[in-house]
Amino acid sequence: MDTNKATANTMIEGMLQTALISAPIPILVFEGLDMRLTYCNDALLELWSRDKSIIGKTFLEIRPEQRDQPFPELLKNVFLTGKPHTDSEALAYIVKNGMPVAYYFDYSYTAIRDQTGIIIGILVICRDVTQQVLAKNKVLESEARFRNTVLQAPVAMAIIKGPDFIVETANKESLQLWSRTADIIGKKIAEVFPEVQEQGFLNILNQVYETGELYHGNEVPVELMSSWQRITVYIDLVFHPIFEEGRVTSIMTVGYNVTELVKARKDAEKSEAAAIEARNKLELALAKKDEFISLASHELKTPLTSISGYLQVMERSNFEGRNKLFVQKTFQQVKKLSSLVSDLLDVSKIEAGRLQLVRCPTVIREVIDEAIDLIRHAHPDQEIGFSSDADNVSVNVDRHRIEQVLMNLLSNAIKYTPGNEKIEIRLSADNTNVKVEVQDRGIGIAECHRTKIFSKFHRIDELNPVISGLGIGLYISRQIIERHAGDLWVDSEPGKGSSFCFTLPL
Ligand code: ADP
Repeated sequence: MDTNKATANTMIEGMLQTALISAPIPILVFEGLDMRLTYCNDALLELWSRDKSIIGKTFLEIRPEQRDQPFPELLKNVFLTGKPHTDSEALAYIVKNGMPVAYYFDYSYTAIRDQTGIIIGILVICRDVTQQVLAKNKVLESEARFRNTVLQAPVAMAIIKGPDFIVETANKESLQLWSRTADIIGKKIAEVFPEVQEQGFLNILNQVYETGELYHGNEVPVELMSSWQRITVYIDLVFHPIFEEGRVTSIMTVGYNVTELVKARKDAEKSEAAAIEARNKLELALAKKDEFISLASHELKTPLTSISGYLQVMERSNFEGRNKLFVQKTFQQVKKLSSLVSDLLDVSKIEAGRLQLVRCPTVIREVIDEAIDLIRHAHPDQEIGFSSDADNVSVNVDRHRIEQVLMNLLSNAIKYTPGNEKIEIRLSADNTNVKVEVQDRGIGIAECHRTKIFSKFHRIDELNPVISGLGIGLYISRQIIERHAGDLWVDSEPGKGSSFCFTLPL
């Protein structure tokens, strides 16, 4: 029976020996306080890149580089106290090809005692976890890099972790945008921002978390509590899912505060709307005014024509002395009134695009002669000079309208020339145009008024109310000339006189 037991023990010992030798983790035994290696398996020889000749040597003889590492001291401690020592992911340098190489180990030191309980050696079991540690470090490093990127980003960035949306990282731009301080880190979004729940942001976060789909919104209005008052900020917002092993574990929020931009645009839109409203009102008022002028001048035209007719009859009747003079004066005033009403009617026609031209071949010299006659009749004392080098030139124009322009230029020349200084009319032509010039030696026109006098109702203020007028004669004249594809302009020197010229294409 005893012999059988001894045989069984020897077999078990043999099996254990084999198991230890072929175990995939390094196992070794040191004996004595100087840690002399008495046993090691193949995995250890492979780790240390050595052969069995190391057996019988001390730890420091085999691995002199361990002198500066904590392990000899830790082994000694276990040997002296009997207390086992374990550690995980411990860094150890092993010299390979003359260079120290970093390894990480999970290991245990256990005291070995003899039958009397005295410590005689140490069993060392270690597991090389270098690859796992390096991989883990890489993940940690990239996580740290990511967190740093978030913290240093120039826009508001934060990481919200887990299904409870715990604020894991938030840079200072985020805290500023959210009107919060760093003590929100580690807290749930729902606790930190009770005000955003009702605005639907938790639902959006839930959706991103569940579907893994990115959310982004532009100029999203967000109401936040700031010092116990609600403020509205506008944010360009992104909720970016972060995946780990294929599932969303956190959400990165990126926000860019565009409140000032949105406000500035809204203000601009408001003032633009106000400007449009004002412009519409003005256009409406102008349209009403034009409508009134058109209506009033039409209404005046008919009675004025009748009055003129009656006055003409009266003029031819046997009125004598003062009565005759009164009739003549009245007739003159009515003529003036008629011409004003005609001008106003013309303005309405121009505005409505209804100024008709009745063109026929016209010798311009004849039109000038007629105009001079009419002016001489009304102003017998006025000296008018006329020179022409285009006597027979004929153009296809509306004779009455061209005469209207001439009459306007001539009566202006008289009106704005104090005293009866001579007015000169010149007619000339070249290959393309006929040109008429009316020159006076009157008050002249300052530079700043020279373009404006051709616009509707523009009169030079200083002349009001000394010289009467509506400020529409030149406007109508220019429209007439331009409708004939010609030009009308003025050259002038204040105090010396003006020269109005127009051309008509041949
Ligand atoms: P009105 O003479 O009825 O005011 P016009 O349209 O004919 O209107 O002229 C516009 C303005 O141009 C006048 O009010 C006047 O100030 C200026 N103007 C026109 N002709 C002359 C001129 N020959 N000399 C100086 N100023 C002139």
